[in-house]
Amino acid sequence: ATMPPLLSAIANAGRHGVLVKSAVVMERLGQVDAVALDKTGTLTEGSPRATDVRPLPGSGLDERELLTLAAAAERPSEHPLARAVVDAARERGLDLPDARDFTSAPGVGVTAVVGGRTVAVGAPARLADDAVGPAAELEESGRTAVLVVVDGTPAGLLGVVDRLRPDATATVAALTRLTGTAPVLLTGDNPRAAAHLAAEAGIDDVRAGLLPQDKLAAVKEMEGAGRKVLVVGDGVNDAPALAAAHTGVAMGRAGSDLALETADAVIVRDELTAVPATVALSRRARRLVV
Ligand code: ADP
Ligand code: MG
Repeated sequence: ATMPPLLSAIANAGRHGVLVKSAVVMERLGQVDAVALDKTGTLTEGSPRATDVRPLPGSGLDERELLTLAAAAERPSEHPLARAVVDAARERGLDLPDARDFTSAPGVGVTAVVGGRTVAVGAPARLADDAVGPAAELEESGRTAVLVVVDGTPAGLLGVVDRLRPDATATVAALTRLTGTAPVLLTGDNPRAAAHLAAEAGIDDVRAGLLPQDKLAAVKEMEGAGRKVLVVGDGVNDAPALAAAHTGVAMGRAGSDLALETADAVIVRDELTAVPATVALSRRARRLVV
């Protein structure tokens, strides 16, 4: 027997490295007419590097002590920024003490107790008002500033750089062509780093500083205006938006388990261009079905 068009399309999507979870999803992919992209781990490679370690005056910490506390607290986190911090500590040969009472808040950061001290690591704007100024200086150059708070006092900043994926610009262009509208960028990161990266990728519409529920609200607003939104994301913070979208696609290689479970399709190979390719496959299959 010949395979029904949607099933062959699923097989073809698989060849592009996209796991489409059902024939219904394969069909819906071709209906999308708007796209919302996450930044960290989606538009960027998601393997950021911590390039700056800056203890704040009065913290009493040197660079090694600051990085040790931050990395120990971040070790249980699966966030790309956490990996950057832990890798930087390993590269410097630092011994990481065990952390207890780890908690993480999507879009905000982590906290843990390290050697009797309570350490919070995350978005400066969410953790301490008086760290926003020094953080902005790091962010002007497109870096993400990560604040380290020790026992309630801002103790230092880390500067993290993440590269745009090599196929990000081509993907934005292809999605614009397919849907007739330019993708929007939804990110929890700061507006300065986000604008820097969006400009490189060819995106004008940037919404930054978003919590998971803000990403969800943005998608609901677009859907409410009659759009069928394709959301592409990788993080725990993207899960509500992925679930609410007409079609949600997760980045598989470094994506969080929650994003992979919530999404309708998963990019198994690490290629963003597989997204427009799969939308095009769906369009072709639907022409054969109807
Ligand atoms: P994006 O939407 O770009 O993927 P996230 O919502 O995952 O970004 O994160 C938003 C912001 O929250 C980050 O830019 C960072 O400031 C902060 N953040 C979240 N998790 C962590 C973490 N584990 N370590 C440091 N910062 C974090
Ligand atoms: Mg992300």
